Amino acid sequence: MGHSSRRAFLQKLIATGGTLGLSPWTLQSMLAQKQSPSGPRSVEPGSATMLSTWNHGMEANAAGFFALQQGGNAMDMIEAGARIVEADATGLSVGIGGLPDRDGNVTLDACCMDHTGNAGSVCFVQGVLHPLSLARKVMEDTPHVMLAGAGAEQYARELGIDEVELLTDTSRRAWEEWRKTSDYKPVINIENHDTIGLLALDDQGRLAGGCTTSGLAYKMHGRVGDSPILGAGLFVDAEIGGATATGLGEAVMKTVGSFLVVELMRGGRSPQEACEEAVHRIMDRMPTDDLQVGYLALSREGEIGGHAIHGGFNYAHTTAEAGRMIDASHG
Ligand code: ASP
Repeated sequence: MGHSSRRAFLQKLIATGGTLGLSPWTLQSMLAQKQSPSGPRSVEPGSATMLSTWNHGMEANAAGFFALQQGGNAMDMIEAGARIVEADATGLSVGIGGLPDRDGNVTLDACCMDHTGNAGSVCFVQGVLHPLSLARKVMEDTPHVMLAGAGAEQYARELGIDEVELLTDTSRRAWEEWRKTSDYKPVINIENHDTIGLLALDDQGRLAGGCTTSGLAYKMHGRVGDSPILGAGLFVDAEIGGATATGLGEAVMKTVGSFLVVELMRGGRSPQEACEEAVHRIMDRMPTDDLQVGYLALSREGEIGGHAIHGGFNYAHTTAEAGRMIDASHG
């Protein structure tokens, strides 16, 4: 693709990212880069790549490339992508509008990991619109990796993050409908999972990842899935690559899925082969007729892979040249 058509594509990404609500610290770090003595960084995102789960991944990736264009790094791409999906009240399994637990509470899980191996996580957190941004604050500004429940909420309030009602009319109605039978099966059905897992490689070769979710609909109060668990829902090793998971978190946690994918890549598997082997690990260990798990992987060279137990898992792959949805292989 020539320089002008690449620029046209980036303009399109910027237009999509126009509604972007970047966090103050993201904006601050972007501004700092823009005002550095050497002037604004010339963005040539030819080598940048972003992979995100499910259809909402396209919008997330566009926001990620917008952040890159503004001078952001791989972690900024991840945060920008996550925030777009977290703020979308029509999505039933991430952020506001996410389906609640069986008692009607929306409880969120999120984590992130950067190219230095630094990581942050929040789990079982309520009333916070952008849990991945909060996880990033835990990573960057505290001596800890993970804050849970009331402690994570207290930290959010200390940061001046307002409490928001995450239960919408739509998700409340869905929950009320569900309560008529309260029929909970401790398995995920194949259509009921769309956590967003994101992996990004920026134009300077830095890798980062993130994962954010409201978890399983109508779960027990207090249940935490794989998404905020480093090594399960997400793992990034700058020397090798990154991986993220979606689907039934219990199956991912029992097999430490994302860490497994990265370690398989370390052992020489391609991202695609590693995702397949991690899925097969689950299929070898438990009945999988009613459960879905999908993995995404991105190598430090920008090679990608995705595989799931069942058909139906798709993901967005965006580079400076194009964005496309890919139907993951399965079985
Ligand atoms: N992995 C998430 C969880 O178990 C569910 C999902 O992917 O939507 O909480």
